[in-house]
Amino acid sequence: MITAREAELVWHDLTPRLLEVRRVERLTPRMVRVTFGGEQLDGFCYGAPDDHVKVFFPEGGAELPVMPTLGEEGLEPPPPGAPLPIFRDYTVRYVRPAERELDIDFALHGHGPGGSWAAQATVGQKLGILGPRGSTVVPLTFDWYLLGADETALPALAAWLEQLPADARVIAFAEVADEQEEQPLAREIRWLHRSRGESLTTAILETAPPEGDGYVWVAGEATGLKPIRRYVRGTGHNRNWAEIDGYWKRGVVNLDHHEDDNE
Ligand SMILES: Cc1cc2nc3c(=O)[nH]c(=O)nc-3n(C[C@H](O)[C@H](O)[C@H](O)COP(=O)(O)OP(=O)(O)OC[C@H]3O[C@@H](n4cnc5c(N)ncnc54)[C@H](O)[C@@H]3O)c2cc1C
Repeated sequence: MITAREAELVWHDLTPRLLEVRRVERLTPRMVRVTFGGEQLDGFCYGAPDDHVKVFFPEGGAELPVMPTLGEEGLEPPPPGAPLPIFRDYTVRYVRPAERELDIDFALHGHGPGGSWAAQATVGQKLGILGPRGSTVVPLTFDWYLLGADETALPALAAWLEQLPADARVIAFAEVADEQEEQPLAREIRWLHRSRGESLTTAILETAPPEGDGYVWVAGEATGLKPIRRYVRGTGHNRNWAEIDGYWKRGVVNLDHHEDDNE
C-alpha cells in the first residue's frame, strides 16, 4: 500500500534466465531493439518504468554466456577458478508475458561487451538475464514530473511517458547525438542534440521547477548528472522525490553500481 506521495521499493525474487533472440530491429542508426523470448520468462516481474536487468553476454566466440552465481544476498563472486560472467545493466523496455517476450533497447556506442554484442545481435543467439531485483514504484499523483535522459536512459524515459496519466504535467528532455536519434514517444518532449551543442545538464539547469509537489527522474552519463543533482538539491526539492542516476561513466568500464542521489 503506498500513500499519495511516497515511492515504494518492491523487491522481486532473483531468477537467472537464459533467453534466445527472436527479433532484432534498428530503431535509429545508434539504437537497436532486441526481442528476447523463452519459457524461462514465465514468472518474470516488472513494476516500474526504470526496471532493469543484468544482461549476461557470452565471451567472444562462445555460444552461451557464463551465468551468475547466486547466494542469499544475490549476485556472488564465482568460485575460485570458475570463468567470470560478463554482464551489464539494461532497462526492460517492454514485457509481453503471453508471448514470453522481453525487449531491450541497446545504445550502439562502439565499445564494450554490451555495445559490441548489440551491434551484431542475430536471431537465435542466447543471452542471460538476472532481475529486476526490485521496482521503485512512484505515485502517479504528483503535481508535475521533470524527466531527463540520454540514450542509455531513453528506454526508461519512454516507459515513463507511457505510464504517466494523460493529464499529468510533464517536462521531459532527451539528449541524443543528433536528429536521426529521435524516436516516436508517447508525449511531446524536448530533444537535445549534442551535434548542436545542447546538453541535458544545461537544459535542466535552465528549468525552474513548477509550483507544487514534483518528482524528478534523470538518468544518463554520471559526470553530467552531478551539477543536476546539486541544482535540484539547491531548489530545496524533497530528496525522496528525486532519482538522479548515473547509468554509465565516460572512460569507465561497467559502472557496476549506479551513481545515485546519495553521491
Ligand atoms: C539501471 C541502468 C539501466 C540501463 N539501461 C540501459 C539501456 O536500456 N540501454 C542502454 O544502451 N544502456 C543502458 N544502461 C547503460 C549501460 O549499462 C552502460 O552504457 C554500459 O556501460 C554498457 O556496457 P558496454 O559493455 O557497452 O560498455 P563498457 O564495457 O561498460 O564500457 C566501455 C567503454 O564505453 C563507454 N560507454 C559505455 N556506455 C556508453 C555510451 N552509452 N555512450 C558512449 N560511451 C559509452 C564507457 O565509458 C567505457 O569507456 C543502463 C545502465 C543502468 C545502470
